[in-house]
Amino acid sequence: MTAINSELIIDGNILRKNISYIKDKLKNKSKFMAIIKSDAYGHNIEEVVGDTKDLADGYGVVRIDEARKIRSLSDKKILLMQGIYSNDEFLEAMDLNLDIVVHNQDQFQIVKENNIFNNLWLKINTGMNRLGFEINDFMKIYNEFLSNKKFTLMTHLAASNEKNAISNQNQFKLFADLSRKMHEDVDKSIANTGCIMNFPDQSYDWVRCGIGMYGGYFKDSKIETAMTLRSPIVNIRKIKKNDKVGYDGRAIAKNDMLIATVYLGYADGLPLNIKDGTDVMINEQKAKVFGRVSMDLTTIDVTNIDDCVLGDWCEFFSKDLPISNIAKSNDLISYYLMTGIKSRVKKVYKRAN
Ligand SMILES: *Cc1c(COP(=O)(O)O)cnc(C)c1O
Repeated sequence: MTAINSELIIDGNILRKNISYIKDKLKNKSKFMAIIKSDAYGHNIEEVVGDTKDLADGYGVVRIDEARKIRSLSDKKILLMQGIYSNDEFLEAMDLNLDIVVHNQDQFQIVKENNIFNNLWLKINTGMNRLGFEINDFMKIYNEFLSNKKFTLMTHLAASNEKNAISNQNQFKLFADLSRKMHEDVDKSIANTGCIMNFPDQSYDWVRCGIGMYGGYFKDSKIETAMTLRSPIVNIRKIKKNDKVGYDGRAIAKNDMLIATVYLGYADGLPLNIKDGTDVMINEQKAKVFGRVSMDLTTIDVTNIDDCVLGDWCEFFSKDLPISNIAKSNDLISYYLMTGIKSRVKKVYKRAN
């Protein structure tokens, strides 16, 4: 007998479709780095590499153990997007033939001491104020060490989803002005998904695309959610008007209702703060969360769902119920939901065909 479980099903065909759609915006002018940090945003890093070999020109990760894992699967460029934090990591990165970001003086010191200047991505702070050299500090390094070296100049946008945010124009200008001071062989990279979609003319030599591939970009309905999170109904009960459901009696019945309880809770990665009224899908019909998410269970109003029985699947997001919907209606972002699903949920990766 197999135990019931909630499932996270990942569809490689959707992933590939999203990538092709996004690459069309670039008209082959830029190389495509598939960002697969954090286990490919929860999609399974090895499977995603396997499914994207012909579509990606490189891969971006944060942890060196991720890079190690995929180096055996791909000889494409692999960028360590936060670079290295020790000499040992630097040596391993060189050994694995990784590209590394250098975002501060301490990291550049390690590079200098080893006197190896291959495969560097110099990260500039243009306003995000998180990582990256100030422009004047970078120019000193450039003039002293890099003016005859091939490398990539990069920066990261703080508000790429907001087409009208003034910060984008400020960041683009700082980056363009700096770019013009570089020698001819310096590659450049700004664009994440939001930038590709909103400012395709800022794509330069490399784009770094994460959330769009996975379908969590919310401003273009042609991009589809590649993950389905679904959970079986384990109980159905009738309740009366004014009855309360779940912890703290958060949800109060305005009429007689039918309540389904599903086998998924915050210990599976469904956030505790999911609100009453959040849409889910049962038997291709929309139902709504009713009551606070518990550790192992969530309660759903199925009063108006036809033919709903024990064992039916309740979908929290899928191709037909975009992950950005549940994210937006709960003041979350799709990145957070994707990377939050816990290991006890059964993960099924369906390779592209
Ligand atoms: C995560 C990350 C990206 C990808 O961003 P998306 O919004 O998911 O496309 C790009 N660049 C850097 C430096 C990142 O850390």
